[in-house]
Amino acid sequence: MGGMAPPFDLADLPTGVAMSLSSLVARVLAPNPSPFTFTGTQTYVVGAGDVAVIDPGPEEAEHLAALMAAIAGRPVVAIVCTHTHRDHSPAARPLSAMTGAPVIGCAPLTLDDDGPRADAAFDAAYRPDRVLADGERLMGEGWTLEAVATPGHTSNHLCFALVEEQALFTGDHVMGWSTSVISPPDGDMADYMRSMQRLLEREDMVYYPAHGEPIDTPQRLVRGMMGHRKQREGQILRFLERNGDSIIPDMVAEMYKGVDPRLHPAAGRSVLAHLIDLDQRGIVRAADGLWQMR
Ligand SMILES: [Zn+2]
Repeated sequence: MGGMAPPFDLADLPTGVAMSLSSLVARVLAPNPSPFTFTGTQTYVVGAGDVAVIDPGPEEAEHLAALMAAIAGRPVVAIVCTHTHRDHSPAARPLSAMTGAPVIGCAPLTLDDDGPRADAAFDAAYRPDRVLADGERLMGEGWTLEAVATPGHTSNHLCFALVEEQALFTGDHVMGWSTSVISPPDGDMADYMRSMQRLLEREDMVYYPAHGEPIDTPQRLVRGMMGHRKQREGQILRFLERNGDSIIPDMVAEMYKGVDPRLHPAAGRSVLAHLIDLDQRGIVRAADGLWQMR
């Protein structure tokens, strides 16, 4: 799952065909549009000779057939996952069986002793052949992918830099259509903001997100998204100052007026992520299920 956004036109979505975006990058749209995935998950095929496949997507026969057509018999060096939400990683296993390629990339989600961090949105069956640490590289003919650790949307999220093109595959960390949902306990707002800051300090020329169009002014978008989170945080604090002890649904009803009500539960998760961050910074606290200023 990715973010939240306005409705879009389902007509003419080019599922099933590879669209070339650069000499090394092609994109295949999966047939899983929803209020959370926008037009659907975008799988990237990287390389002009042998290839890597980034975010193979949901396990759907139609999408797997489209990926095999895009691979067109070329050797697959690796099937790479940015994180393990169910719209990103489940096709890794059948694609690995069909191509013989290893599954490489993000870690499986680690479960804490203090309760399950995963929910139904996670692909619990994900088993990578190799986990990449921050800065580790994968190489093929004429391409290099470098892992960039970007926890926040999920604790195991990685972006992947395509060194030869100064491009960054951003998964769900930065998307082309919406801000990411940060859903605690696995989603973490403080981590997310640190990971955004990290991207600001890089010199990528283009982002290829898992949902939405390529982003050719990446630093400007990241700055804008960080500003948006700071505004949201300010709204929460003003709400608590005005209303005293409060519950999240009341905050969402006011702050997300005009947003599709089906998205309000997800908005509530992002508000909770802000509140946990504010609590950790000593600004708010929870008492008997109510949130209040300290
Ligand atoms: Zn996701």
